[in-house]
Amino acid sequence: MESPECVNTGALSAERTALPYLGIRYQINYHACNLDCPYCIISWRKRTNLFDAESFRAITSHIEKLPYRVSLRIGVGGEIFTSPALMDGIRRLCTRPSNIANVGFSTNLAADWEDVMQPFFASLDTSRLGIGCTLHDTVIDDIDDFFRKAELLRKTGSAMYIGFVALPGSFERIAAYKKRCADLGIPLILNALVGRVRGNGNFFKRLEKYPEAYTPDELLQLKDLWDTPHSYKLLAESCSTRGMACSAGRNYIYIDHAGNVFPCGNIRSSLGNILAQQIELQPDDTECPNDVCWCGNENQALRIVDNHYVRTPTLRMFYPKPGIPVEKLYSGYNPPVYDRSRRALFNARTASSLLKKLTAWLFK
Ligand code: SF4
Ligand code: SF4
Repeated sequence: MESPECVNTGALSAERTALPYLGIRYQINYHACNLDCPYCIISWRKRTNLFDAESFRAITSHIEKLPYRVSLRIGVGGEIFTSPALMDGIRRLCTRPSNIANVGFSTNLAADWEDVMQPFFASLDTSRLGIGCTLHDTVIDDIDDFFRKAELLRKTGSAMYIGFVALPGSFERIAAYKKRCADLGIPLILNALVGRVRGNGNFFKRLEKYPEAYTPDELLQLKDLWDTPHSYKLLAESCSTRGMACSAGRNYIYIDHAGNVFPCGNIRSSLGNILAQQIELQPDDTECPNDVCWCGNENQALRIVDNHYVRTPTLRMFYPKPGIPVEKLYSGYNPPVYDRSRRALFNARTASSLLKKLTAWLFK
């Protein structure tokens, strides 16, 4: 397969639209944020900020010279609207003609709309943006204000979605948010909880590691709520990706903050450094060597997405092809890497109840 199907190509000239497609995740390691979410997989407070504006400009200038029609996802590692230098860099990418059809990133929408975000969006070509607005409802004060900003953002003409982490205990809220998003005409895209969560339930509950700890019953509920069967299979069910055909290295690459190029973030065989040399992409797909691929921006590179979905210029947004039966969208995946039925025999709830009984016995 030469080039994944794409419903539109953003603001590219006809000549650039004809270029072969390349998805890029560029991880800039900007570790500063205006929130402190209890499930933050970045743990930005513990990390060194590696972002610098000069490297960003140099690396993106090289990306602009690639003979590909690029969908660029900037993996921030913090919050973009806390960095004027990063905002300037993105503004530059979205104001000059180039091969970059789409610039995607995530934001928590916590910045001030009137002073910070509105002037930013007014200063660039929003048709080239693809933004994930992640709703962190356990830490933000005003959820209505989040949705107010999301609606204002939609009205700028940016491609966008609202993202939410499927925390256990939040499923009723997910259903309500899904309806609220549908009313606004914005898709809700779920991420699985990955790792442990601070302050979530009792001692045993806090020890549990996700997504393994989702119970079979929780998975059933999530299946109804999840945005696409693909993301549900990969993220919630944790189906193994080992052996699956993937466009990583061929139509998708990962670039780190120093310009080193890899097939994806989980495969560290170098394809060169974009600052130092011409990078050589693979002629063939990759057979995934890993058991799991839990980044929604990366696992979209699997070929099964090209078979079942229509891609948009924004890496994370793809929609089922018309006419494909729903059950087919759930087929073609390996089994989950976890045997949750065995695990369910002794989970946090049974441990918690045993602890209660032990405490009662000790202090009777
Ligand atoms: S907004 Fe994102 S980077 Fe910031 S604390 Fe929350 S999860 Fe972490
Ligand atoms: S499925 Fe994920 S880990 Fe496997 S090759 Fe593709 S991008 Fe890399």
